[in-house]
Amino acid sequence: MRVSTILAAKGRSVTTVAPGAAVADVVATLAELRIGAVVVSDGRNGIAGIVTERDVVRALAAHGASALERPVSDFMTRDVVTCHFEDTIDEMMDRMTRGKFRHIPVVDGVALAGIISIGDVVKHRLESIEAEASAMRDYIATA
Ligand code: AMP
Repeated sequence: MRVSTILAAKGRSVTTVAPGAAVADVVATLAELRIGAVVVSDGRNGIAGIVTERDVVRALAAHGASALERPVSDFMTRDVVTCHFEDTIDEMMDRMTRGKFRHIPVVDGVALAGIISIGDVVKHRLESIEAEASAMRDYIATA
């Protein structure tokens, strides 16, 4: 199964913020949309960074409430691991596990084209395991 399969089901929309957005606004966005990460846009549909709930927790631990007034660019991860439509879900699981992160933006060339979360990966793995088990049960029942 490939990244394109997941995007076909969930769509390509990605929540982005500008590098100058205040951390407080990002917190409000994460809470309102019930998501764990936003991509920081470079203003040309490319990726300047990614900020997740973990970055916000670290910022608050390091700087206290004053972190909320600072720009998200102060705390984002700039070296973002991305993937492509044709990459496999197994590769994504491997990249997330090795990199210890739970989100991977999808790019088409350099343009942002979607995002895959650990939740998407687990959901599709469970569905494919269930489909395999069901096919196996049918095979045994009709053999
Ligand atoms: P997460 O588990 O996704 O909340 O992210 C944990 C840490 O990894 C945070 O510091 C994120 O900024 C960073 N991170 C998340 N996704 C990526 C990614 N695709 N590439 C590089 N770093 C990431």
